[in-house]
Amino acid sequence: MRLSRYFLPVMKETPSEAQIVSHRLMLRAGMIKQSSAGIYSWLPMGFKVLKKIETIVHDEQMRAGHIPMLMPTLQPADLWKESGRYDDYGKEMLRISDRHGRDMLYGPTNEEMVTDIFRSHVNSYKDLPLTLYHIQWKFRDEVRPRFGVMRGREFYMKDGYNFDLSKEDALHAYNRHLVSYLRSYERMGLQAIPMRADGGPIGGDYTHEFLVLAETGESEVFYDSDVTDLSFGDREIDYDSVEQCQGVLEEFTTKYARTDETHDEAAFNAIPEERRRSARGIEVGQIFYFGTKYSEALGAKVQGPDGKPTPVHMGSHGIGVSRLLGAIIEASHDDKGIIWPEGVTPFHCGIVNLKQGDEQADGACDQLYAALTAAGLEPLYDDRKERAGGKFATMDLIGLPWRITVGPRGLKNGVVELTSRRSGESVELSPEEAVKKII
Ligand code: ATP
Ligand code: MG
Ligand code: MG
Ligand code: MG
Repeated sequence: MRLSRYFLPVMKETPSEAQIVSHRLMLRAGMIKQSSAGIYSWLPMGFKVLKKIETIVHDEQMRAGHIPMLMPTLQPADLWKESGRYDDYGKEMLRISDRHGRDMLYGPTNEEMVTDIFRSHVNSYKDLPLTLYHIQWKFRDEVRPRFGVMRGREFYMKDGYNFDLSKEDALHAYNRHLVSYLRSYERMGLQAIPMRADGGPIGGDYTHEFLVLAETGESEVFYDSDVTDLSFGDREIDYDSVEQCQGVLEEFTTKYARTDETHDEAAFNAIPEERRRSARGIEVGQIFYFGTKYSEALGAKVQGPDGKPTPVHMGSHGIGVSRLLGAIIEASHDDKGIIWPEGVTPFHCGIVNLKQGDEQADGACDQLYAALTAAGLEPLYDDRKERAGGKFATMDLIGLPWRITVGPRGLKNGVVELTSRRSGESVELSPEEAVKKII
């Protein structure tokens, strides 16, 4: 992409309404524009990162054997009346009525709707196990929408639902989700720690939230510092293997790590003092086994091997796709701007032409652009007639992992400058070598 033809409305001033760094940087880098409280337009670069995150989530869900689909944002109230949640959900639910006076709502989540789909089409245990998911906009009329996309009212969420014959099978689905979530966050360059969370009125041990440690996080967390040494890495996993998935769950959830809702002072104090940590975190996902709560309420039963109708065991599993942009920036920035992890960066490399209009410099930039594109990468070429200082500031703000600086003086010696955004280190290389380093 040539910057002169792109739409990247960066701001020089720090917007006063933004209280935390990720919100400030998303506004300054021209990624989002607020339309009303907690509702945003995704400008081209924000949209690009959102899609990258979405792609990683899809990829890892499908790898785990979960099936993508798409349910609507608007739902009939009837289903929620059937489950009993229409009244319980309270003011967070945006209620709408259509021209015929029918009660509708903008979905805050999809347990009811997916269970309705399931009960309409699945009758036999032979069709299980089944996990369906979608990535769709949600609406929750939060009391205090704030921190930009971190706590929006309209937000983008992946939510998946497993249907299983037994609790045991449903817990295997739970474990598959845990593994696929660990992989997803790591691909985004994030450490998200699974922490024992509160099952709410249904209770039980079977819910974990994934938290990214950050001072600006809204959750209070307590953990054994050993958990921050864990990483899934690039190991192979057989998602059909109950033992392997259970093994990962044990590895990642045995050490103490809890949110304040389930915090247990005595268990925490049993950890050696130097490993006890209390901190703040951003909830970027949650997995939940809730048994037959919705299948009983909505009559989602299958014929079991014994021929008897059996309510299915379910769980729901969510990832805050749009919140992740904020979380990634909170975890990866400096005083100049964003530092995108490779896995989600909107462009792989910036090209800065120090002397736009100079035949040699323009030619070298065009060649670099073509070589990077041919290698399957997306460069962002700043081809505007601007001062070098302004171009550098923009590149630092938008945080691409690499910058190649091209100017007549270097070209005289056959070199360009390659700079790593993360380390700030620069080296002079031939254009060919610079491309090789990036790919
Ligand atoms: P929170 O505790 O932050 O209100 P939640 O527990 O209500 O979140 P879930 O129902 O678990 O949210 O939804 C799954 C994921 O969706 C959350 O882990 C979070 O990452 C994301 N999410 C929830 N509410 C919002 C919101 N208002 N804006 C952006 N993302 C959200
Ligand atoms: Mg909430
Ligand atoms: Mg929560
Ligand atoms: Mg939650």
